Amino acid sequence: MAGEIFDQDTVSVRQGGALRKLSARWCCVLVAMLLAAPLLSAKAVGEGGAAQPSLNSGLLKAAASPFPSPRPVPSRPPTPLPARPSPPVPRATVTPAPPPPAPLTAVQPPAAPSGFCADALSIHVVDAALMGVVQAGVDLLTPYFGCQRFRIDGTGLPVKFGPVTPLLNARVLGYAHSTPESYEIWINPDCWGVVGDWSGVVAHELGHYLGWQHGDDHPYMWLAPPPGSYAQPSDLAIVCY
Ligand SMILES: [Zn+2]
Repeated sequence: MAGEIFDQDTVSVRQGGALRKLSARWCCVLVAMLLAAPLLSAKAVGEGGAAQPSLNSGLLKAAASPFPSPRPVPSRPPTPLPARPSPPVPRATVTPAPPPPAPLTAVQPPAAPSGFCADALSIHVVDAALMGVVQAGVDLLTPYFGCQRFRIDGTGLPVKFGPVTPLLNARVLGYAHSTPESYEIWINPDCWGVVGDWSGVVAHELGHYLGWQHGDDHPYMWLAPPPGSYAQPSDLAIVCY
């Protein structure tokens, strides 16, 4: 590519009068390109050497002839000399330094969730398969109390799979089964393999054990249907698919 440009310039130079309008700077560009000949092929270098005298004569004619150029000046205009800026004047205004970043607020770790509340209630997880979700439900309520309100120790409130569907004629996820003789939390085995997250259901039923009611301000008493379940419009019970 550089060779092509070189040849065109050489031809222009050889046409003599075509270069009357060339400025001294444009000629300097040409000379610079001629000096770049080592980068070109050996043939191009030879042409460049031969063109050198005609370039010089053409430059002289361009400076001496008053006639206008019969052909347009090469489309590549001379590169204007970039205006050298005067030495920078010291800025009168002083840009204020940006304010230092605000110190990070020290984040205090939450109260240790492992501690039991002084009035913790005992839970007996009857079905071992429920152990994980019961603990998860207890953990959900821990931030509300600041301590573990329930202790899974094999005594106290039974949490187990219970006959929820036959009792309610609906696949309700869980049920706080209260009778004068007992109080139990039932998890519906018909929904066990369907519902994706039981922790909120357990927290909800534990809330009933504490006396909380649907729709009061206690956590998880407004329970969004977990994955695999939906709110039954008729009585707002949450049932599994
Ligand atoms: Zn409920």
